[in-house]
Amino acid sequence: MKGIKDRKKLGAYLDGAANTPLDKRVFKAMKPFLPGFCGNSNSVHRYGQVADQAVNSARSNVAKIIGCEAEEVLFTSGATEANNWVIKGLALNELQKPEKKRRKRIICLSYEHSSVIGPCEDLKKLGFEVEYVGSEKDKNLLAAFKSAMFRKQDTPLIVCCMAVNNETGEILPAESVAKFALQMYGSPTLVDCTQALSEGGKRAVRLRERFPHATYMTFSGHKIYGPTGIGCLIASRRLAEKTSSKLSPFIHGGEQEFGLRGGTTNTASVVGLSEALTAMAERSHRDRFAGLQLNLRWKLQSLNKWARSKIAGGSKADPKDGIFLNLVGGVPYIASVNCGDFLDLPNLADAMASRGVAVSSGSACSVGGEGTEESHVLKAMGVDSRGIRNTVRVSFTKYTEEKDIDAFIRCLFSIMEAELSPRERRQSRNRPEKKTKKRAKRREGE
Ligand code: PMP
Repeated sequence: MKGIKDRKKLGAYLDGAANTPLDKRVFKAMKPFLPGFCGNSNSVHRYGQVADQAVNSARSNVAKIIGCEAEEVLFTSGATEANNWVIKGLALNELQKPEKKRRKRIICLSYEHSSVIGPCEDLKKLGFEVEYVGSEKDKNLLAAFKSAMFRKQDTPLIVCCMAVNNETGEILPAESVAKFALQMYGSPTLVDCTQALSEGGKRAVRLRERFPHATYMTFSGHKIYGPTGIGCLIASRRLAEKTSSKLSPFIHGGEQEFGLRGGTTNTASVVGLSEALTAMAERSHRDRFAGLQLNLRWKLQSLNKWARSKIAGGSKADPKDGIFLNLVGGVPYIASVNCGDFLDLPNLADAMASRGVAVSSGSACSVGGEGTEESHVLKAMGVDSRGIRNTVRVSFTKYTEEKDIDAFIRCLFSIMEAELSPRERRQSRNRPEKKTKKRAKRREGE
């Protein structure tokens, strides 16, 4: 794999919200359980016992860091599985009850990750009702969640409100929503915490303290410099009882994870996830991220100034024209950069990728699917089609440097320069729009 040996050739990496590199100390912790090691943690012999001890000690460590009981830590293949488990698992429980006694209502943030929206949509086919909250009109999200809950008397099956949005970095009122849902309705809440740990430091990782009313919390290892393909579901036993929403097995098989999730435990990855959390707890990256974001904002302002002068031939630029940086109420490690006023490309992230700058157009998970190109997150925020195609997510890792931001700005500058030169602009205008309309028509017909 030539590209991996020479990582510099891959270009600047500003996509930490999609994947972070494995921390060296995490790899070191995993190593004893990789080459030459065998031992199924469920086996009774010595090999199995070694694996079992490693898994138990990792579970206790994760529990200590999160602030919960070891039995509440359930290892999964990632946040996707954990989110599916909670939503579909609770729904399956309901389906075993007589129709009249079933909880059928799901209340969900409209711009959750697809691993939350997907199961909710699927459950509609089985008679569950999903009410989405968080359209452009919902300026006060907590109030919108409350009124959605108030609309009917019956207890929601689950209320889903993520901690931090993966495309814009927006911090959501997850704890307030969870508290209200619990106290007013006795309803459980799923808080997807996948993007909420990246800042690092004790405060960030103590999820139980941050979301004391959330029955279920989920996250993935590969967003915190841990291995890919491992994650956690933190399921509060006390709150599950209080909300009558006890989780049952979703993946049937062996007796792993307290009989709740079958499948041979991935010892090395479990150990890696535990070490990654320890490293995250030890050090906050907030100042570093804040500095990088300031730098990004400052450089984008200069680029904005230049682009406005160019578009108006140096005289009267429309004061509304601009590069919009979504930083309001967000985390310092994710920014959404909207260049829709200046660019009309089919996809800005693709254009940047071909020039060696790694950013995302929305969530990396939504790429590759049919009809999923347009970000449902930006749509919910009221961004138009052109804006969506010309918005990129810039997200940092603890290894991001100023030179990566410089590479991003240089790349954006060269794209803008080409687009904003009058001849090229004429040529490109409407072409991508037509393409998108055609594609949308095709999709409508599907
Ligand atoms: N939730 C959020 C908010 C995410 O950002 C992601 C990953 N993009 C997931 C869930 C899914 O995580 P994984 O792919 O590791 O299962």
